[in-house]
Amino acid sequence: TSFGFKEVKEEDKSQLVSNVFSSVASNYDLMNDLMSGGLHRLWKDRLVSKLNPFPGMKHLDVAGGTGDVAFRILDTVKSIKYRAIRDPLNDHLLEETHIYVCDINPNMLNVGRKWAIERGYGEDNSLIWVEGNAEKLSFQDQSMDGYTIAFGIRNVTHIEKVLAEAYRVLKRGGRFLCLELSHVEVPVLKDLYDYYSFSVIPALGELVAGDRESYQYLVESIRRFPSQDKFASMIADAGFQKVEYENLVGGVVAIHSGLKF
Ligand code: SAM
Repeated sequence: TSFGFKEVKEEDKSQLVSNVFSSVASNYDLMNDLMSGGLHRLWKDRLVSKLNPFPGMKHLDVAGGTGDVAFRILDTVKSIKYRAIRDPLNDHLLEETHIYVCDINPNMLNVGRKWAIERGYGEDNSLIWVEGNAEKLSFQDQSMDGYTIAFGIRNVTHIEKVLAEAYRVLKRGGRFLCLELSHVEVPVLKDLYDYYSFSVIPALGELVAGDRESYQYLVESIRRFPSQDKFASMIADAGFQKVEYENLVGGVVAIHSGLKF
């Protein structure tokens, strides 16, 4: 097999495959924690608190990877006490929460599915894992109450297409939220951040993931990403109203938001 074993029983093989996936994903998670000093967790919490999730909502998390944002949304929904509207005939909830996690990479989704089971969400029908491209979504027009994309839009080929698709799938009144590494404008902090990103990040990448180049690329892609104001005007150009953004840690990351009226 591709693992270099002569004979591997089916169960063992799937175990091996899932080990490979989780080592990729846990490496990914470890790097996130190392590079942000654990801050990415707080940033995602902030994103979800801006979303104001509610029971029965239909939500789409694009570039959702292993479900880090989706789990937070579902946790929030589950923590809300509400009088469930039940169908009197078959005791079903009339409004089920659906959180779609869409990612172009099926390996990330597979790890997410596994983690959903570990978190006790295995039997829950709320999480739906969908392989797909942010630039051409398979979801219907006006089908979502909310749309999030965290650390995903920076690497797509056409940002405009992603924004147009976000606008298309949202219902009127639906909210678009984007969490992304952005630009630091505070003078001293900017120097520190430059040093950190040009020297520390590639070194960390080499040390932890054995891959300096990818992390160098990461830093360059952050530089190339449009400024907060420019990105806000792109969101408005896609049709969104009330476009605003919030800088976190002086602009190391920014959360952009917009509404579809
Ligand atoms: N949102 C997750 C988080 O914050 O932990 C994952 C972020 S990860 C840095 C970026 C993700 O974007 C990867 O899982 C990658 O597969 C996905 N991705 C890249 N290009 C994409 C595209 N065109 N459409 C959908 N997903 C994409």
